[in-house]
Amino acid sequence: MTKTFDIAVFQGDGIGPEIMEPTVDILTRLGSAATQYNLTFTNAPAGAAHYAKTGESLPDASMAAARAADAILLSAMGLPDVRYEDGTEISPQIDLRKALTLFAGVRPVTVKKGQKTPLNMPADREIDFVLIRESTEGLFHTQGRGEVTKDEARETLLITRDISEKLFRFAFDLAKTRKDTGRGPGKVTCVDKANVFRAFAFFREMFDAEAAKHPDLTADHAYVDATALWMVQKPWDFDVMVTENMFGDILSDLGAGLMGGLGVAPSADIGLEHAVFQPCHGSAPDIAGQGLANPFAMILSAAMMLDWMGIKHDNVEMRQDGERLREAVEGVIAQGDILTRDLGGSATTQVAAAAVQRALFGDE
Ligand code: ATP
Ligand code: MG
Repeated sequence: MTKTFDIAVFQGDGIGPEIMEPTVDILTRLGSAATQYNLTFTNAPAGAAHYAKTGESLPDASMAAARAADAILLSAMGLPDVRYEDGTEISPQIDLRKALTLFAGVRPVTVKKGQKTPLNMPADREIDFVLIRESTEGLFHTQGRGEVTKDEARETLLITRDISEKLFRFAFDLAKTRKDTGRGPGKVTCVDKANVFRAFAFFREMFDAEAAKHPDLTADHAYVDATALWMVQKPWDFDVMVTENMFGDILSDLGAGLMGGLGVAPSADIGLEHAVFQPCHGSAPDIAGQGLANPFAMILSAAMMLDWMGIKHDNVEMRQDGERLREAVEGVIAQGDILTRDLGGSATTQVAAAAVQRALFGDE
């Protein structure tokens, strides 16, 4: 039976619309060829340009569309010269994260054979791990509200049982799915600084409690400093990593670096009910409107969306399409002749996206 799923689409600012358009085209084609699912798209205006025009960065109607949708696709929002009156950046993506309690920031890091990486990798190695960054508390808890006097500044590190338990359950479930689908060995590494901070000892205790429920999976611990070293020395050893907000912020940029840049780094912000899928990069105003943007990070984020919805709704065809879409992008990258400028090529956004369509549908 065909089920229809609605996707809220935030095209956002800068290169946002340029990378969203070909992504929605691909999803539309996948959905119309599928027999088990069909996709509809609801446009949700938001972002810096919208704020400049209307005085609203995230209109109620767009928030309502996000809540009502089965999943949310977001390209990028924010522009350097458009700010709220208090001088802070326009970032409705953070408002969405808070309003929808999207506690798990999911950043897959993959380097397939043939893909450029700054690492000097043994030829038989590939990198394929997922970093999960807690996204609602940790060291970002007092973000923008830290106490600063003339002589002292203070911020709070908050770890709660409620969010940590959800986070670790999510991490072990993901490791299990990866193991079942042959993508990973079924290992979860808790990244912390439990040797120094009591808050991280508490974090680790809850991790261990969740680990005890999964005798079929391996649970591992690592200090964040050692993790940074190992991500460079032996990144192929990781499967699923789970960590606090600030550590995750830093390590996920290191992960994007391993992948050869922001143009190929997808991400998802996932909660119990809702999820936002968006590339790791920002709105790249420096290259907007010139056809230079790499659409792959956005397309790979859409593949993550199909994975997530496919698992959530037990829709096998949707999961398979997520996998096919990822493989199509990886294939184009490995082939190496149709790449955008950031990857060393000269293809436009449209041409790079068309190469993915060819790999998927066998056009021409
Ligand atoms: P934000 O604060 O929103 O994360 P940022 O200041 O980190 O933004 P980005 O917008 O991510 O900056 O851009 C950083 C650099 O990477 C810019 O030079 C930009 O042109 C480049 N870049 C980002 N995304 C892409 C892309 N999809 N394709 C090509 N280049 C990109
Ligand atoms: Mg950035």
